[in-house]
Amino acid sequence: MRYHDSPPPPESASPVPSDRPWFTRRSTLVVAVAALAPACLAGWVLTQVLTGAGRAEGHDAKPPVSTGGNPAASPSAPAAPAAAAKGPLTGRTVVIDPGHNTGNFQHTDEIDQQVDIGTARKECDTTGTTTNSGYMEAEFTLDVSLRLRTVLEAQGAKVVLTHEADRPWGPCINERARIGNEAKADAVVSVHADGVSAGSRGYHVILPAKVKGGAADTAAIVEPSRRLGERIAGNFARTTRSAPANYLGSGTGLVVRDDLGGLNLSTQPKVFIECGNMRDAKDAAQLTSPEWRQKAAQGIADGVVGFLGG
Ligand code: ZN
Repeated sequence: MRYHDSPPPPESASPVPSDRPWFTRRSTLVVAVAALAPACLAGWVLTQVLTGAGRAEGHDAKPPVSTGGNPAASPSAPAAPAAAAKGPLTGRTVVIDPGHNTGNFQHTDEIDQQVDIGTARKECDTTGTTTNSGYMEAEFTLDVSLRLRTVLEAQGAKVVLTHEADRPWGPCINERARIGNEAKADAVVSVHADGVSAGSRGYHVILPAKVKGGAADTAAIVEPSRRLGERIAGNFARTTRSAPANYLGSGTGLVVRDDLGGLNLSTQPKVFIECGNMRDAKDAAQLTSPEWRQKAAQGIADGVVGFLGG
């Protein structure tokens, strides 16, 4: 449908025949000049407005996004990542891992290949779940991760994403862990949403268990990862008003697992967050809301800031 059709302009005045008496021609000229004058004035005013750079910038300037913990941020600081913001995370590196990949559904052979997670062998990656209406977990995780990156960069952090719609599938879980390790991340967050039965609701944060085997040795990260996870869980509950999961974690919103390669192979403090249950209609209504996803990203970011002492 064409929404921008407009009625044709009114027909312009017919040209004045040249055989009219002089006074008629002169009145036409007067009318034309009279009509032209306001147009010129309007043009001059418009020019003045457009060239009034100071006023235009003042009007367009947006206040910085409030993050609740960055009072030192300059209101005039540009939002471009190139000009790193100063804040409580200045000098810190945060790795964000958007769970799954929207392309995984088309690359099942690749993601089914087994990789070594130290304590076992496991599929490279999985497709992730979807809502009943088909909104993919991988879309959700990338959206929240990009929002999270923006908030963390505004706090001064260097942010690395394990992927961002720049590859057809994956990365494999061992590569996801390696990206965090090689970045020497001060904190790593893997973003997910769960896919369990309707009626199961709420968020939970997954903490690494103490495991040792092959390349896996989490002894050094168990304790800091728990502190990171507790901070994220508390802030996520505050910003989203979501409740801790009602189907695991005994109401704490915290779960320890020893079977996730992304945690077992990490040498840096790392947690997963399952933001809600995509298969529950009420949770799905939140997960599909951009406003709610912004709150989710804010809560995770506030948790990272709290953990890193911001
Ligand atoms: Zn997932």
